[in-house]
Amino acid sequence: MSLLPIFLKLEGRRCLLVGAGKVALDKIGSLLKTGLQLRVVAPYAQPEVRQMAQDGKLEWVQRTFELSDLDGSFLVIAATNSAEVNAAVYRGSVERGILCNSVDDIPNCDFFFGSVVSRGDLQIAISTAGESPAFAQRLRREIDEQLPEDLGPWLENLGQLRREVLQTHPRGEARRLLLHQLAQRPVCEAASCPSRQLALAPQLLNPVENPRASAGHVYLVGAGPGDPDLLTVKALRLIQTADVILHDDLVPQAIIDLASPGAEILNVGKRCGSRTITQDEINQLMIEYAHANRSVVRLKSGDPLIFGRAGEEMTALAQADVPFQVVPGITAAFAAAAAIGCSLTSRNSASNVIFSTGHHAQSHNQSPLPELEDATRVVYMPGRDLTLLAQEWLQQGLPPDFPCAVVSQASQPGQQVRCTTLAALGDAEPTVAPSLLIAGWAVRETADAIYMATGCVPVPA
Ligand code: SAH
Repeated sequence: MSLLPIFLKLEGRRCLLVGAGKVALDKIGSLLKTGLQLRVVAPYAQPEVRQMAQDGKLEWVQRTFELSDLDGSFLVIAATNSAEVNAAVYRGSVERGILCNSVDDIPNCDFFFGSVVSRGDLQIAISTAGESPAFAQRLRREIDEQLPEDLGPWLENLGQLRREVLQTHPRGEARRLLLHQLAQRPVCEAASCPSRQLALAPQLLNPVENPRASAGHVYLVGAGPGDPDLLTVKALRLIQTADVILHDDLVPQAIIDLASPGAEILNVGKRCGSRTITQDEINQLMIEYAHANRSVVRLKSGDPLIFGRAGEEMTALAQADVPFQVVPGITAAFAAAAAIGCSLTSRNSASNVIFSTGHHAQSHNQSPLPELEDATRVVYMPGRDLTLLAQEWLQQGLPPDFPCAVVSQASQPGQQVRCTTLAALGDAEPTVAPSLLIAGWAVRETADAIYMATGCVPVPA
């Protein structure tokens, strides 16, 4: 049975705490913050509790617990050092229909206190339903380390801005978007906070009221090879804060899911959907969204400037006077090289690295390369049948035992690696998409251990 996480309003309510030792004292601070009326029943009390009673912050009844103490309480906490007394407090509470917590006594609890991380009005409460308070505390520490210290005042400021926006903007899509944008802003000092400036000049967001400010911004962002952990920090931030994301087929759902719930997300992958979307249409979409003053992330797999048609998109954006920025990503070649532990350059055998595509290699008949074997060749989009490519390379003079590796879904859960030679390349089974080919003597130089661990079984010479 799962627990219901709720946040209780206790202001003015009567609450009974039985016990006034260290355990009880631990609870008092967070209880008093809620503004409840606290009555403590205990024959002896910690000096701090006595002091709080003297200061009028709580009432201390100096005697042992009696069942009648429960009457009129909204909430009860049993925190004595006697399991029997705590159990009696719980039973009495159950009889009276009052919610009770017996500290560290799971069966005698109606509710648990969560491990709490707080910054002002922000509270994150963690429960493991008693399975592991230690794990809850560990999570609490980890979350605490990640949350900025000044989140409290920032949130207060955000609340104030929200109230202003609710008063000054009519209900609707534009207001909803504005509220999401405000919540995406970086945490910062109240007066200089960009979110405040944004809210104070809301007409900037409305191109109808202010056509001069209609230009938005487009970010051509590299999403990396697929593992969300391989996104750059900048890519992550932009994905989280974009109004619109136009992404390619190869960008996995785990990365798309990082977008803000308010973002508009379009798959403009050319392989996707019933109709193929043309490059011109993609360009047009980016321009239209930018002119509607939306922040647009054009999300491409790997790096945007490697076989991503980013050149055409940048030209179109420049011609339409749309400001844009390129955010590099980890290209598939690097993830594939990492998967087989291959140093793409090598002092012994590879002074060059060549990135090419299978398409071009087949259709344009590449010019013969100088220093033929002194390069690691990475072929993007090699196609399913590698026979033609292998023939071409053999004709160029590469030896039949030239090492080759086909890496599929590099950095992703379905990653697969197959090692072979140029002579046997065409015989290999087709691999799952996306895949790329790495060829060169550097592929063989990989330490045996890595070679075997990655499943890249070398073909005997
Ligand atoms: N801009 C991208 C490349 C786009 S072209 C980049 O920098 O990586 C698409 C091709 O990239 C695919 O056909 C495949 O050859 C390769 N590719 C992309 N992601 C890959 C991955 N995770 N594993 C293997 N190859 C990948």
